[in-house]
Amino acid sequence: MYNTPTTQISLDGRAFYVKRDDLADPFLAGNKFRKLHALLETPPQKLDKIISYGGTQSNAMLAIAAMCKKKNWYFTYYTKPLSDTQKNEKNGNFFHAKNLGMEHVEIEEPYYKDFVASVRLSMDERMFVIDQGGAVEEAKLGLEVLADEIKKSGLGVTSLATPSGTGTTALFLALSLPEYKVYTTPCVGDSDYLKKQMEALHPLPQNLIILEPKKKYHFAKPYREFLEIQQRLLSAGVEFDLIYAPSIWMALLEQTQEEILYIHSGGVSGNESMLARYRQKGFL
Ligand SMILES: *Cc1c(COP(=O)(O)O)cnc(C)c1O
Repeated sequence: MYNTPTTQISLDGRAFYVKRDDLADPFLAGNKFRKLHALLETPPQKLDKIISYGGTQSNAMLAIAAMCKKKNWYFTYYTKPLSDTQKNEKNGNFFHAKNLGMEHVEIEEPYYKDFVASVRLSMDERMFVIDQGGAVEEAKLGLEVLADEIKKSGLGVTSLATPSGTGTTALFLALSLPEYKVYTTPCVGDSDYLKKQMEALHPLPQNLIILEPKKKYHFAKPYREFLEIQQRLLSAGVEFDLIYAPSIWMALLEQTQEEILYIHSGGVSGNESMLARYRQKGFL
């Protein structure tokens, strides 16, 4: 198994360590790389086809496409109908996933929910369905591998941080490393919503600390302060994504003091299309 490197950066006069899971692969990186661990360890001849569904800018979609390319598995991805502009974009996750061989199928809005509910009905043992947000049991395994790498790194840090969407990554990391504090921040909804999502998977451990951002942010929208912190981090030496990373970095700077190992959650491949939106808004 590939052990990702750790680098050190300095921000606001503070030193942070960054576990570079973003470097695992250009398209199969960050926490999606960890979540797909069990499938990545599956011998190619065991499966023919992976099925998933969700949004077209999804980092999970791109990671699955890159995995299927490596494994020579067929990959079908279902979404709600797309606009012609989205279909014809020449950058971003959707474009790259199609280039990696992903078959894209649109499901008309009124049927989408029923489609998702019935996606497993016509399956056989050579097919595998990955639900939106990633397969949970498989994710747990991959995060245990990450936990092991952290324990063995000998950095002497006892606090970790990583941003949350569904919270699967932060939760399983905290469960695998009870001797570490794990900071996270909600990027979809507020802390209460995130807690509920996590509690549906497992009771919350004490070492998991949810930092509430000072302001309410809508998921995947451009914000001036997001761009600002992302650019400061870039100058410090590491590129982060523009959707998940900015708000946790702001929260870490404002609400913590100790030395922290930040687990890079990936998503950098989506910056091309996010930066285009920042330009449209006149932020760049
Ligand atoms: C998917 C993703 C997350 C959220 O991960 P969860 O396990 O759903 O909380 C965070 N950062 C990036 C860059 C992601 O792609």
